[in-house]
Amino acid sequence: LNGINKYFEVAERINVLKDISLRIHHGEMIAIMGPSGSGKSTLLNILGLLDRPSLGTYFLDDKDMSLLKEKERAFTRNKNIGFVFQNFNLINELSALENVKINLQFYNLYSKKKVTHKEALQRSKDALISVGLEDHMYKRPLQLSGGQQQRVAIARAIVNNPSFILADEPTGALDSNTTEEIMQVLKRLNQHGNTIIIVTHNTDVANQCNRIIELKDGEIVADGA
Ligand code: ATP
Ligand code: MG
Repeated sequence: LNGINKYFEVAERINVLKDISLRIHHGEMIAIMGPSGSGKSTLLNILGLLDRPSLGTYFLDDKDMSLLKEKERAFTRNKNIGFVFQNFNLINELSALENVKINLQFYNLYSKKKVTHKEALQRSKDALISVGLEDHMYKRPLQLSGGQQQRVAIARAIVNNPSFILADEPTGALDSNTTEEIMQVLKRLNQHGNTIIIVTHNTDVANQCNRIIELKDGEIVADGA
């Protein structure tokens, strides 16, 4: 990121991110911390191509993201980035397996090379197995514990083989034992090469990352090991 600014205009114009410049390397595991309203989610949404900066440039793998048309952005996002959220954001009417598989169906919307139904099913099962949910694939979210729901969300995030996983307070709704479980899953993904960026208020979570970036009023006030 180079000189990223983000403005929101409601009653007046507020500058939520101020000249953020940041280099993130493949393989890092990063925590983003800072008070409520400091711009953490806004920054994560820009990194995840869910939102655009008002000013500044974002290069992902040497490619200028501002040059992408909407469809290319959607494809780049779906191919490279997996998302995990505080409240899991699963679809309650679908099984764990279907919740994961749906991400590959989105992939098919954008990609020329389609994933077959059979392959999608197998990859979704593999993703669920890799997060330890082999016995819970056919359950719906509300039949699962919070930690299990978050693992479904992680399986959904990784089923496309993205290189980045962005997690916005992924353990915010979990107790400390479950938080530790989820961190083990994320750390294992990091050891297998995924770049992980976690927004968190939890210092135990942040201390398990190899870099902590601290935001305050839209500025980076600390960045280090
Ligand atoms: P928290 O820890 O509470 O999640 P945060 O650091 O993630 O906070 P952001 O959600 O990035 O904070 O919000 C930063 C600021 O931008 C806040 O003042 C918020 O009200 C404002 N903001 C965020 N999204 C919008 C929007 N779509 N329109 C207007 N203002 C917004
Ligand atoms: Mg937030």
